[in-house]
Amino acid sequence: MKTLKGKGVSGGLTLGRIVHLVREKKREASAEKGTPEQELRRFETALASALSQLEAVHERARRALGESDAEIFAVHRMMLEDDDFLGAVKEEIKRGTGAETAIESACERFGGMLAATDDPYLSARASDLRDVSGRLISCLSGTAAPVLMGENIILCADELAPSETVMLDTSRVLAFVTARGSAGSHTAILASGLGIPAIVGLGEELLSVAEGAVAIVDGDAGELILSPSPEALDLAREKAGKNEKRKERLSALRGKPSRTRDGREILLYANVGTAEGALEALSGDAEGIGLFRSELLYLGRSTYPSEQEQYRIYRRVLEEMGGRRTVIRTLDVGADKQADYLGLASEENPALGLRAIRFCLLHPEILRTQLRALYRASVCGTLAILFPMITSEWELREVLALCDAVKRELGEEGARIAERVELGIMIETPAAAIISDRLAPLVDFFSVGTNDLVQYTLACDRGNRALDRFCDPHHEAVLRLIEHSAKNAHAEGKWIGICGELAADPTLTETFLRMGIDELSVSPPLVLSLRETVRSLDLSRK
Ligand code: PEP
Ligand code: MG
Repeated sequence: MKTLKGKGVSGGLTLGRIVHLVREKKREASAEKGTPEQELRRFETALASALSQLEAVHERARRALGESDAEIFAVHRMMLEDDDFLGAVKEEIKRGTGAETAIESACERFGGMLAATDDPYLSARASDLRDVSGRLISCLSGTAAPVLMGENIILCADELAPSETVMLDTSRVLAFVTARGSAGSHTAILASGLGIPAIVGLGEELLSVAEGAVAIVDGDAGELILSPSPEALDLAREKAGKNEKRKERLSALRGKPSRTRDGREILLYANVGTAEGALEALSGDAEGIGLFRSELLYLGRSTYPSEQEQYRIYRRVLEEMGGRRTVIRTLDVGADKQADYLGLASEENPALGLRAIRFCLLHPEILRTQLRALYRASVCGTLAILFPMITSEWELREVLALCDAVKRELGEEGARIAERVELGIMIETPAAAIISDRLAPLVDFFSVGTNDLVQYTLACDRGNRALDRFCDPHHEAVLRLIEHSAKNAHAEGKWIGICGELAADPTLTETFLRMGIDELSVSPPLVLSLRETVRSLDLSRK
């Protein structure tokens, strides 16, 4: 028996088998192309993984959107089974062209033929062909979905990138364990969203644990127990029994108010990021969605989601939330949230680089498409739109002007939009917190993103485990910035919530309530335990 210690970032206990994440090797763009035989083999392998990816995406979309909306992925699969297209790529490779270029040129040829037809259905398929070709090329370059083998998996990796997490088939994963990563990393966010245990920062030794080894993951203690002894297994079962009892106690709080003993009510919302987000929020008994991370819809794919594709997802989430407030954050990419097609240049300091609202202000068409989809969906529920990474008043004014332009444009087209859509900003930079008195009059609400606020206030990379000692999320500077923002929001009659991971920290719930925070948004499986904490507090006692 051997125990590896790390940082538990999502609680719970489970027993399973270690499965290492297999990534296809990423080929350097500059890499020499192989012989035609080697390139053909690369192509065949990429084709097989693109087909199995599409099968999984089709299935997921069918569950999320229904058969007719998911149909497009069946069409994509058919394109990848088309003998003419495949034959053209292979011929080109046999003539000595590299696999990537051969796919591109076949796509151009066949796409051109489709676009030139008079049939509107067929000409619209040209962009689908580009999408599947992009997927094939991603598979060739190793930016494909990670491959998972087996069931009841303890998924083991050095670290998981957001673009990988969105493509994982998580239904077979019991727990995540990573060698690197920190509490603010996306492995942590993903695991707590799924309500499964996770430990990060277990060290490089983790990567040499034998595939298939039996192990216990104790997310509360931050321990991975390898080849557990019979005693350790008994202890684990006992703990699991206690967890079950706790779950029963918490489920008695479903539908109960999130009210302190002295009568102060707080809104408890959920953080989600997929088309199934509303179901997750409702099953966690959240009173609304406090953060819908829309960027997850943009990751793990090879082209931008279209306005219509986004509209369907937002509409579905809003309808399912049945009038409960649903805060959807606009695209927050850059830093660790990457996809090849976004064309983000590599930066020396990506966390301080072209990300979130900065990226959108430099590419207003992308934000405009998203805002059109959001405003069109707004009639289906109670939508609020949230803008990430604001640091200056001018940025906010530009964003608000774009919202006005989009509303005007939709009005002219005769589209219906909700009478009231609240607009808010993330307070996740010290700058935004400090000038929150200037920003508050311009918006309807603030939402504090503590993951980034901690990183930027304390100058600590949120993904760097080596900084744990220095990166204290309870640091007085962070808490003062939150309190300052709350005061400024309330002075203008606006509400303020917290949607970063700190919102779920029960040791701070009382502090946040005393600051006047109106809403806390956490992973769906954490809503009920936070409600239990809120209901145990008595703010009348000093
Ligand atoms: C945050 O920064 O606290 C936040 C909620 O946003 P993200 O974790 O997606 O950066
Ligand atoms: Mg953030």
